[in-house]
Amino acid sequence: MELLEDRIRRDGRILPGNILKVDEFVNHQVDPELMVAMGKDFAEHFKDLGITRVLTLEVSGISMALTAALELGVPMVFAKKISSKTLSNDTYHSKVFSFTKKIEYDIRVDKRFVTPDDKILIIDDFLAAGQALHGLIDLCEQGGAEVAGIGIAIEKVFQGGGKIFRDQGYDVYSLAMIDHFTDDGVVFSNEVTQ
Ligand code: 5GP
Repeated sequence: MELLEDRIRRDGRILPGNILKVDEFVNHQVDPELMVAMGKDFAEHFKDLGITRVLTLEVSGISMALTAALELGVPMVFAKKISSKTLSNDTYHSKVFSFTKKIEYDIRVDKRFVTPDDKILIIDDFLAAGQALHGLIDLCEQGGAEVAGIGIAIEKVFQGGGKIFRDQGYDVYSLAMIDHFTDDGVVFSNEVTQ
């Protein structure tokens, strides 16, 4: 998606450890127009699959999952990263190892929002090694829901997560695919000659 690639080139910052900081438009300040455009792109790709819910992980997946859900006309559900007093005990939970924080944390979703009747579109802001996605797929499997598709804003292809899930047969659709970082910036997969 050209709009997102241009924005990454303009405002993204590469940090040590192969981390791309996008807090000007996704991870802290959020650009609503960009989120609407991304939601429309996700919805266009997955519109014929009978999606019943969009599932993401708090916090940074929410803005783009919401716009995709709006376009698809379905609810958006976000898995919670910690147990909270307001969350019912009737939850599915899984564990995720955080790529950026290097800690393991618990994710939970209420059983009412992941059911055997669901065809779920999972959306997240980044795909690196695939741990977050693994946890979200696990929640869907526990609820007997079908994972109908996976939408990612920024995939760092060189970290291998995308290949794992595509090899398993999932439709992983990423709006910006980063082949590698250089000292000068980001090189997208569509800029690399095969
Ligand atoms: P994975 O679980 O695929 O290894 O990493 C994906 C998760 O880690 C995403 O949910 C995202 O929050 C975080 N993450 C991974 N790589 C980056 C990155 O380069 N920048 C930012 N801001 N978050 C990242």
